[in-house]
Order: sequence, then C-alpha cells, then structure tokens
Amino acid sequence: MDFALSEEQEMFQRSVRGIAERHLADGALARAHDPAFPFDVARLFAAEGLMGITIAEADGGQGGTLMDAVLAIEQVALVCPKSADVVQAGNFGPIRTVAEYATPNQAERLLGPLLLGEMVIGIAMTEAEAGSAATDLTTSAVPDGDGFRVNGGKVFTGHSAEADLFLVYLRFGPGLDGIGSVVMSRGQEGFSFGEPSSHMNDEQWCALYFDNVFVGPEDVLLGPGGFRKQIASFNAERIGNTARSLGLGQFAFNAAREHAMTRKQFGRPLCEFQGLQWKFADMQIKLESARLLLYRAAVNADKGLPSADETSIAKAYCNQVGFEVANEAVQIMGGTGYSREGLVEYCFRKTRGWQIAGGSLEMMKNRIAEGIFERRFSQRLPRPEKSG
Ligand SMILES: Cc1cc2nc3c(=O)[nH]c(=O)nc-3n(C[C@H](O)[C@H](O)[C@H](O)COP(=O)(O)OP(=O)(O)OC[C@H]3O[C@@H](n4cnc5c(N)ncnc54)[C@H](O)[C@@H]3O)c2cc1C
Repeated sequence: MDFALSEEQEMFQRSVRGIAERHLADGALARAHDPAFPFDVARLFAAEGLMGITIAEADGGQGGTLMDAVLAIEQVALVCPKSADVVQAGNFGPIRTVAEYATPNQAERLLGPLLLGEMVIGIAMTEAEAGSAATDLTTSAVPDGDGFRVNGGKVFTGHSAEADLFLVYLRFGPGLDGIGSVVMSRGQEGFSFGEPSSHMNDEQWCALYFDNVFVGPEDVLLGPGGFRKQIASFNAERIGNTARSLGLGQFAFNAAREHAMTRKQFGRPLCEFQGLQWKFADMQIKLESARLLLYRAAVNADKGLPSADETSIAKAYCNQVGFEVANEAVQIMGGTGYSREGLVEYCFRKTRGWQIAGGSLEMMKNRIAEGIFERRFSQRLPRPEKSG
C-alpha cells in the first residue's frame, strides 16, 4: 500500500494549480456570485485538456483516470470554488454516462460540443413526486413510429437555465426494468421550461415540461433495463460531488488558517488561542480522513465501475466534512467569514447542498447499512397481504 501520489500525479496537480492561479484567481468572487455557468472557464479548460479527462481519446477525451479528474477538481476548487463545477460538468456528470453508453454516432454528435466547452448538459432525473425514491419517476416514453412520445416533467435539473442538452431519465414500461434514458435538446417541439428558481447556493433551475415530445431512436441512450447501468455510472458522478465537497471544505480551511495567523484580538493573533487551535486540529483530522476515503473510491473505480459501497462511504463522509469545516471556518473568521466579501460563506452554502444532491446523506447511509448487513432493506411499505 502506498499513500503517496505518483510523480505524474504530482506534476498534473501542479499543472492544474498553475492554470487555476494564472486564469481563475482573479474574478473568483464575482464568478461565485454569478448564477450563470461560466462558459469562458469551460472553453479555457477545453483548451488546457481539463474536459473529458476520463473519456477515451478516441471520443475526444484525454484518456486519463478518475483519480486525475478528482485531483483536477481539488486544485481548481482551492483557487476558484465555482470553477470546480466546470470540472464536474466536463468530467463527472451526464457527460460521462453519455461517453460510457453512447453509440459511435451519438458520441460524435453529442460529446464534441460538450468537450469544447461550447455546451453544457443537464441531468434530469428528479421529479416532483420522485426524489430519493428515484425509481418512482413517471415521465413516460410511448412508442410512436420508429421513436417515442415523451410526457411528464422534472424538477431541480442542474444547468436547466442554460443547458442545450438534457439526459432525461424516463419510463419505457413498468417497474425498475422499464426505466431508461433519452437525450433531449432545448428547443425541441413540446419541450418547455418554467421560470428560473434559485437554490440556497444561487444555482438556478427551471421545471422541465415534456408535452408529447418526439424522441427519435438516435436519441435513446439506454432503453428499457438501462437503469442499473445509469446508476452504476452515477457513482462516478457522485465522486465528483464528493471531491467538490472536500475541495470547498479545504478552501474554507485554508482561508480560516490564513485569517487566524493575521487577525489579532486581545493583542495576539487568533491562532494563539487554544479554543481555535483545537478547531483547526479537528478540521484537519476530518479533511485528511475524508481525502483518504475519496481517493480509495476513485482509485478503485479506475479498475472498473465505482463500487457503490466505497462511493457511498466517501460521499457521505466528504459531504459532512466539507460542510462542517466550512461552517467552522465561518465561525473562526467571525463577521468576515459570514460576509459576501469573501468566499467562505459561499463554500458553506455550496457544501450544504451536496448533502442533499446526488443521493442524500440518508440515502448514502441506507446503502452503507446494506453493505454492513449484507442484505437489501426495502424502503417501501410491504405490499398488503392478499385476503382469502
Ligand atoms: C443543489 C442541488 C442540485 C441538484 N441537482 C439535480 C440535478 O442536476 N438533477 C436532478 O435530477 N436532481 C437534482 N437535485 C435534486 C436531488 O437529487 C434531490 O433533491 C434529492 O434526490 C432528494 O430528493 P427530494 O428533494 O425530493 O427529497 P425527499 O426525497 O423528499 O427527501 C426529503 C428528506 O427525507 C430523507 N429521506 C427520504 N427517503 C428516506 C429514506 N428511505 N430513509 C431515510 N431518509 C430518507 C432525505 O434524505 C431527505 O433528507 C439537486 C438538488 C440540490 C439540492
């Protein structure tokens, strides 16, 4: 067992940090307060080889590892927390599901503009009545000629205010095996949007409405029975969410450390008060243990699909730690930490959301418990006994 990064990984880390410091340090605060997706950063990352890190070179990606993509998120987050979302969009989200399961024709058509940072794709899974119970989704695809007619709607879809493409989870038939996914484009007939709403982290989302939208066979990504594959691929998405929690927690820690060394009260720097030193010690213990869990999940995932157990453990812990550390950083920095003049309150708001998004803390813990007891626990009410 070796806990050190390889020489190549350290070089990659330094190179990403350099790119972030040269291009993203200026404007990091303004970017965080702008709800829009920073397409200029996406185009920069495309030019610097930071989009599609884990996607095969044949498909226009970099042919790297999931661990490389994790290192990229961390290094970008340490300079410009908002830009870590762009590493996520270009490497972990629906782009990866598309890369994994697309036909050659779909890959050529869809991945090109995403990898160039010209477009972003949203993942439309959650519905008003299907959140944690994702398989309760009712958006339906009914055969029509050589394609399908889609009806239903989605909520909370990330990037929905500006995405050109959407990976829509829907139902071709009843039960788990009836679930699959299609790709839809903004502007398609019958596909409309509600007014933008804001999350606590200022991210905007619009309700999606599908009114008899025609989807041709070329836009079906995974037909009936695709759900398990989609969820397996979603474990990689979760690693991106996990890495951002850790990255933003570390950003907040670094800011608080700097503040504690320079800010004086009672004639002494804050770092000389033991009450604060112990907070820092606890924060560091949490960040370092969270990082080990994240790296384990990412490194092992590179040998195949990410393990649901390791991903759930890493996500649950990093989500908690990122938020707890950001929260403590706000406290240590007092009014300065709570102020929108700095990025620590942004890290606090962002890390709060990742305890809900991408599989909530509670759902991750349900999955972990199944691993512990080596059995499935249905969350649903038992079916009523048949009488007579
Ligand atoms: C910042 C953010 C970004 C998001 N981005 C996207 C996106 O891009 N695409 C998308 O499709 N969705 C997105 N979502 C939606 C997200 O996936 C859902 O909010 C999440 O799955 C929880 O569903 P819900 O909000 O309906 O809560 P509910 O499912 O109603 O849950 C409410 C609470 O009950 C708990 N709970 C539910 N069931 C159980 C159980 N069996 N055991 C224990 N606790 C339980 C939950 O953990 C939660 O705390 C996003 C959400 C947020 C906050």
